[in-house]
Amino acid sequence: MATKKEQELNRDSSAIKKSASRKTGPQELILPAALSVKQLGASMGVSPIEVIKHLMRNGVMAGINQGIDFDLAAVVVPAFGFKAKLVEAVGSQVESEGHGSKDEDKGEVIQRSPVVTILGHVDHGKTTLLDTIRSSRVTDAEIGGITQHIGAYQVEYKDQKITFLDTPGHAAFTAIRARGASVTDIAILVVAADDGVMPQTIEAINHAKAAALPIIVAINKTDKPESDPDKVKRQLTERGLIIEEFGGDVIAVPISAKNNLGIEDLLESVLIVAEISELTADPQKLAAGVVIEVKLDRHKGPVATILVKEGTLKIGDAMVAGTTWGKVKAMTNDLGLRVKLAGPAVPAEILGFSSLPQAGDLFFVAPDDKTARLYVENALKSKEEDLHLTRTITLEEVMSGIPAGEEKELNLIVKADTQGSVEAVRSSLTGMDTANARINILHSGNGGITEGDVLLASASKGIVLGFNVTPETSAERAAEQEGVEIRTYNIIYKLLEDVEAALKGLLEPAYKDIIQGSAIIRVVFGVRKQSRVAGVMVTSGRLTKGANVRLIREEQVLFEGSITGLRRFKDEVNEVNSGLECGVDIRGLEDFAEGDILETHRRERNR
Ligand code: GDP
Repeated sequence: MATKKEQELNRDSSAIKKSASRKTGPQELILPAALSVKQLGASMGVSPIEVIKHLMRNGVMAGINQGIDFDLAAVVVPAFGFKAKLVEAVGSQVESEGHGSKDEDKGEVIQRSPVVTILGHVDHGKTTLLDTIRSSRVTDAEIGGITQHIGAYQVEYKDQKITFLDTPGHAAFTAIRARGASVTDIAILVVAADDGVMPQTIEAINHAKAAALPIIVAINKTDKPESDPDKVKRQLTERGLIIEEFGGDVIAVPISAKNNLGIEDLLESVLIVAEISELTADPQKLAAGVVIEVKLDRHKGPVATILVKEGTLKIGDAMVAGTTWGKVKAMTNDLGLRVKLAGPAVPAEILGFSSLPQAGDLFFVAPDDKTARLYVENALKSKEEDLHLTRTITLEEVMSGIPAGEEKELNLIVKADTQGSVEAVRSSLTGMDTANARINILHSGNGGITEGDVLLASASKGIVLGFNVTPETSAERAAEQEGVEIRTYNIIYKLLEDVEAALKGLLEPAYKDIIQGSAIIRVVFGVRKQSRVAGVMVTSGRLTKGANVRLIREEQVLFEGSITGLRRFKDEVNEVNSGLECGVDIRGLEDFAEGDILETHRRERNR
């Protein structure tokens, strides 16, 4: 049953939407420059699955946490009766520091600093490189400042700034991407010259390639007598990362992170690649970006490091991230200095969130507190629904979601028990491309299925295939959360058969839908649409609180959601069995009538 607060909010929500457009026609929906599919669903009060379906119909494959930009959102919302309006058109200009003038000029696009992530095999020197760059490039005036680890920092080289994400690790990098945010512009791949290309080097290449990031190779530890930079270059070229000297376009820079050698060349290369990438942003917009680190401080409360992607964040802004919001109370830069503004590509640690957002959440500034609060309330509601939503992308959906006539691409991550099996699976898969469907192996390797594999699949809308291996617990959890399909096999031809079927669009789902119970609506209590309760008789199985439920009328599914409340006489109960009557509350279900059928169901793996 909707609480009083929720009812107030519902009223609030429609008041806001309506006040934006008093004319007849679609309601105006104020949206930020970028938001996730989930947030878009929440802002319209519809399930994110509906948004995904609509995107699919338009040939766009997106997960719940996928970030989409305003233009794409604007294409989607009319289907739900709205008209999109970009948030900054509503108000709030950036006061530029010093003159505080209100700038009427919108859309001023400037060149922005590149954001760089360092990837590579363990012990190849990522942390040392990050530390060396940081300590050697801060200006003299800043050296006295407290160097503070906030998850990202900026250095200046040849009067240009470069932002480094100080969170080495492919999982962290891909986790952010899996949540829909592309934070990084350039990847530096560190390879130790004494060790050469190792499994995580390959994983890093695959993660960066999947993100379509330009890669710069830093061949590290060249101070070591046993170092062999040429061997590294050859190995990389064999892996498809073709170094300039071998006719490719990948820059490789020999360095010694420990002895501070070659660092300038590396930074020079970053600037060259950045220039080619033409990175721009509009500092006049209301800020939007990504949360990169969070912590709960005993004295300060929730502390989040954010990286602004668009616009300028300033003190007092009402910011929304995931299911939390807050007003920016204080901002600190990577040198521990208090700042008032953070523009594009600038990281800052901020205080003011009412609760902790998650690393990887997209954040954006709302035009006012009320709108921010509303976004969060809606996001919370849809989060509750999400818990019961079926997963986003499955093998067969990937293939069927692509409009006819377009080449289909099946992104796969392949894990197997031995390197031999990996090669066997890979080579069998390579021969399976058809005229209009192509297999793209994003990553393969031996060992169990890891969280990183799942996140990579999630970020690239791919599938994880395991041969004689199982997912680690953390991978299972991530798969559940991210809505990634993991298929495991111990017979190779079964694996190949499924992939072939998927390519042809004929694959059976890995999950089946199990009906748990059904009930018929006997009476409808309450007058107002939002607070009506269905009085039902359970006709088979049982109804449980929280269960996924669909409303069926004349054999058509009219609504999907979950049971928010069950009542027997005056008592709230968790379960009602066949043959009994009860009251059922289903959030969001407004249109139901006597004679409608409620069916609860759950998903189970096909075995
Ligand atoms: P990470 O696991 O990739 O972050 O690697 P670390 O930065 O922790 O480095 C692993 C080890 O390699 C440490 O003992 C470093 O001191 C050492 N190391 C890093 N860079 C260099 C280098 O350029 N030369 C030498 N000789 N050792 C290095």
